[in-house]
Amino acid sequence: MFVVCSKAILDQCRSSGAAWGLLAGQVVDGDVYRIAGMWESSGGSGRQDVVGVWTRPEAVAQTVGAPGALAVVLEQAAPQFWLRRADGQLDHQTAGMVVDVERDLFRRLRGIVDRAQLQERTVTIIGCGSLGSGIASLLVGAGLDRLILIDRDRLETHNIIRHLCGVSDVGRFKVHAVAERLRDRNPGLAVEARPINADVQPEPLIQAIRCSDLVIGATDSPQAQLLINAQALAAGKPALYPGAYNFAFGGEVIRVLPGRTACLRCVYDATADLFQRQEPGQNGQAVSYDEDRGHPGMWIDVGIMAHLATRMAVETLLGQEDPNCHLTGHYLLWGNRRLWVFRRPLESRWLTIPRNPACLACGGAAALDQQLAAQGTNRDAAEAAAQGILASGDVAANGNAWHLPTT
Ligand SMILES: [Zn+2]
Repeated sequence: MFVVCSKAILDQCRSSGAAWGLLAGQVVDGDVYRIAGMWESSGGSGRQDVVGVWTRPEAVAQTVGAPGALAVVLEQAAPQFWLRRADGQLDHQTAGMVVDVERDLFRRLRGIVDRAQLQERTVTIIGCGSLGSGIASLLVGAGLDRLILIDRDRLETHNIIRHLCGVSDVGRFKVHAVAERLRDRNPGLAVEARPINADVQPEPLIQAIRCSDLVIGATDSPQAQLLINAQALAAGKPALYPGAYNFAFGGEVIRVLPGRTACLRCVYDATADLFQRQEPGQNGQAVSYDEDRGHPGMWIDVGIMAHLATRMAVETLLGQEDPNCHLTGHYLLWGNRRLWVFRRPLESRWLTIPRNPACLACGGAAALDQQLAAQGTNRDAAEAAAQGILASGDVAANGNAWHLPTT
C-alpha cells in the first residue's frame, strides 16, 4: 500500500490541539490511499470516505478503527503511515509520500518563466468551449493564479471529445466544470466562474474586464467578440481573439493592444473581403469552433490554436517583446492543412493590419469627426465616398490595405 498525503494537511494536524482525529480520503487504484483532508476530531467517523485516523506517537495503542483503517503517526521529523490488519494489529509501516503542493507544483518552471509576475495578473476568458477551456488549462500550467471564466452554456455529451472536461461533467455549466478541473491542477488557484450571457447581462462582463490584466474572447460568435472588443477598449485592457476556421483547417489569433494596434473592429473591417464572419450556422465561411454549429474541427487542430493563443497571452502579460524570442506580431494565421494561403501543413503567417483612425470602436466617433473635418468633409459625405470605394473594389485606396508577408 502506498499513501499520498499533502503537507498542508499534516501541518493542520500538527497545529491541532487534539491528540487524534479522523482523516478523510479515498482509496485510489486499489492500493493507494490519498488523504484528502482532516475531518474534525471525533470518536467515530460514520462516513464511508474516511480511510483512517491520525494520531501522535504516544497514542498509537489507542488508535481504533476497522480493519484496513489507516493510521498516520505524526512525529517531529516525518510522519509514519500504518495500516490496521484484520486481526486488529497495526501492520508494518508502509510507504508514503508527503506532497508539498505549494513548494513543488511549479518547481519545474524555475528559470523559464517569471511566475512571480504572472501570479499578480488576472485573466478573463469569455467562452469555455474547446478553445477557452484549453487556454484556461494551459494558463494555469504556465503559473497564472487568478482567472475569471464567463460562459452561459452547459456541457453536452458531444462537447467532451473536444473539451477539458469529461462525461461526468455533462449537464453542468461549463464554467463550473472547468473551474473544478483547474483547481485540481492548482489548489491555490483563485478562479471565478460566471455562468452568464454577456449579451443580456453586460455588467458582470464589464466588471470582470475592468479588474483583468488581459481579456481573451474565445466565443464562437463574431458579434460577441466585437462586444468584448468594445468593452476591453473602453477599459484600456489588452485582449486576444483566437479562432478556428472551418473544420479547423487553420485558425487565427488576433492581439489588440489599446492605442497601439488595430482593434478587432479594424481587423474585421480590413479583412471583410477575406472572411465572411457570420454567426455559426449561416451560409458562408463561418468562424466557428463550437459544437453542432458551424464546422467544428478535431481538438488536435483546435488545440494548437489554444496553445498559440496561450503563448501570446503569457508574453503579453509579461510584456515580452524581444523579436528574437517572442511573438511580436499581432495577427497570426496558422494553417493545419495545405489550404488557402498556407503552402504547407503546420505553417504560420503573420498579417499586419494598420489601425484605422476612423474606426468607431477604437478611434471613436470624436476621432472620426475630427479626422473628417480636417479633410473638409463630414460623416454623411464620407459614407457616400466609402460606398463609392466599396463599389469600385478599391479597398486599398481607403487606407485599410492589408498584406500577406512575403516570407
Ligand atoms: Zn478599431
